[in-house]
Amino acid sequence: MSIVKSHCGGSTLMKYVLNHSMREHPVLTKLRLRTMEDSWNIMMVACEQSQFMANLTKLIQAKKALEIGVYTGYNTLNIALSLPDDGVVVACDISEEYTNIGKSYWKEAGVEQKIDLRIQPAVKTLDDLLAADQAGTFDFVFIDADKVNYDTYFEKSLQLLRKGGIIAIDNVLWGGKVLNPSPDDADTVAIDKLNKKLHRDTRINLSMLTVGDGLTLAIKL
Ligand code: SAM
Ligand code: CA
Repeated sequence: MSIVKSHCGGSTLMKYVLNHSMREHPVLTKLRLRTMEDSWNIMMVACEQSQFMANLTKLIQAKKALEIGVYTGYNTLNIALSLPDDGVVVACDISEEYTNIGKSYWKEAGVEQKIDLRIQPAVKTLDDLLAADQAGTFDFVFIDADKVNYDTYFEKSLQLLRKGGIIAIDNVLWGGKVLNPSPDDADTVAIDKLNKKLHRDTRINLSMLTVGDGLTLAIKL
């Protein structure tokens, strides 16, 4: 995994990259260090990838974002910080335990009012948003929850996204396992299947970046 899980550490070259590009908000630094104390910290997004996505939201002047898979909320906080005062990030997770870790940091950073945390299966939240006539209103989506549901998350997110909006999909390389997916490895099969589908998908423009564990950007046409 090397730099994949750098969490602002990793190889000498990666340290150079981080030392010459990271502009981590002090509360993000605190939350990252707190997250490193958790036994599931491998799940946290790489900080340089999170900064990239926060910059993307600024570039497209996003006001409404969706995060599918929050964990301790490092990226949720980064996106919330990048949104304007009247922006919102709908944050989807099933775990109170993980998301509770982030809440005091969201508050300390002064952006808790921009974070609409919904604790229930993400598919339910996406269906709720669609039922509430929010199709076509989101600017940015980050998909980073259970891999077997990635295709469902993508399809529902595409409906929720406005034209020109971006869906970022994490872990699309899955530590290299996509090169040779074992049929009984449901996560790898799901990721590889979605990668192949998106390559042919004419509803989007597409880039697959090698940042972190692989990040696909799908821009809605
Ligand atoms: N995006 C996070 C970050 O920036 O650090 C990391 C997310 S972590 C890889 C995946 C998260 O997805 C976990 O917090 C887990 O509880 C959540 N999750 C798993 N299954 C889910 C589901 N069906 N619906 C919503 N969240 C789910
Ligand atoms: Ca991830």
